[in-house]
Amino acid sequence: MPELKFDITRVRQDFPTLNQSINACPLVYLDSGATTQKPQCVIDTTAKFYTDENANVHRGRHTLSENATIQYENVRAQTATYFGVNSSEIVWTKGATEAINLVANGLRKQVTANDTIIITPIEHHANLVPWQVLAQQTGAKLAAMPLNKDGTFDTELCLKFIKKQKPAIVAISHASNALGNITDLPTIIECAKSLGAIVVVDGAQSAMHLKPNLKILDCDFYVFSAHKMIGPTGVGGLYGRYELLNALTPYQTGGEMIQTVTLYESVYRDAPAKFESGTPNIAGITAFGAALSYLSQFRHAEIFEHEQAVFNYAHSRLAKIDGIYLYSSVKNNIGTLCFNYKDEHPFDVATLLDGYGVAVRAGHHCTQPLMAHLGINGSVRASFAFYNNYSDVDKFIDALQACIAILD
Ligand code: PMP
Repeated sequence: MPELKFDITRVRQDFPTLNQSINACPLVYLDSGATTQKPQCVIDTTAKFYTDENANVHRGRHTLSENATIQYENVRAQTATYFGVNSSEIVWTKGATEAINLVANGLRKQVTANDTIIITPIEHHANLVPWQVLAQQTGAKLAAMPLNKDGTFDTELCLKFIKKQKPAIVAISHASNALGNITDLPTIIECAKSLGAIVVVDGAQSAMHLKPNLKILDCDFYVFSAHKMIGPTGVGGLYGRYELLNALTPYQTGGEMIQTVTLYESVYRDAPAKFESGTPNIAGITAFGAALSYLSQFRHAEIFEHEQAVFNYAHSRLAKIDGIYLYSSVKNNIGTLCFNYKDEHPFDVATLLDGYGVAVRAGHHCTQPLMAHLGINGSVRASFAFYNNYSDVDKFIDALQACIAILD
């Protein structure tokens, strides 16, 4: 295994949650696909906000409120810089799920019964159900992209399918949360957009691992969750190409999103304000700024290289175990191992692993259509982040061998 260049010892010290024992064993946290751990600076920033800085944004003339507003807008600018877009194109939401709902609902006046919405079998339910609802409301047709047996896309087949369907919308993940496989988005986006489709990318899993420049990726909408990017829960966002974003119909209305209100009608503000009604998660957004600052101390390539080295080692060790069915590809993967052991229930494997301090996820991972496609009810999922190291892999494999000895 290649020597790690990254100062992983120091990085792990920054994440207090990692430095504890679970069931009398050192914690091996392999559930970053569900949520990442938080560095101390994110925890401290949250506490500092409530201790010293708490005030509502956009509505006060007093110092605390003005400072909170500046901070809140600074993090929007920081987020825009992270994704290579403009501040006015970032809308705060409570996460990726809300952001997809915002887009799907926001398109309801533009979509008609003559339209086709392409979805894919790898999608998280958060990127399926809102489109199902939109299709039901408008009469639009849903069409599922073809998928290889192993859960990967055949890009040529996808392009053929897109050309045949002439979709109005393509909703697709940048990386599968269950398998970790990375989608060949540039080719798919280019094809879909040449036919006039709006491309909505679910970036919940890619935002941290791949740090995409969204102007280069050239999608129209992209959603993310801060809690999968070492930030707090309850914060996320939507990037939208400005003209398309501003053309969406708000799906939540109320205070702060309006220009003027009379008793019987209102004029809305422009994006992003018109999608941010009510008091936002100010402390969370402020802490997300600390998460982005933490990430910015590394070159992204450095993080990715490290994650890939640890993931490749884990993949090769897991693949050698008799009776393991490994569904994740090693190539083009953000660092997720989706597997089963013989016909053992994934809950049993995950529960036994927990007994050795190894935290993995088990179940359908909110991807029931993908599980059906793979011919399984669920799987165990070990998902990696840059704070994992080779020792985590060794402990995980040792624990798994011990579980297998119990199960066999
Ligand atoms: N899409 C994908 C690919 C995900 O992995 C998740 C979270 N597991 C979501 C959407 C939903 O994210 P959230 O729960 O943060 O809204």
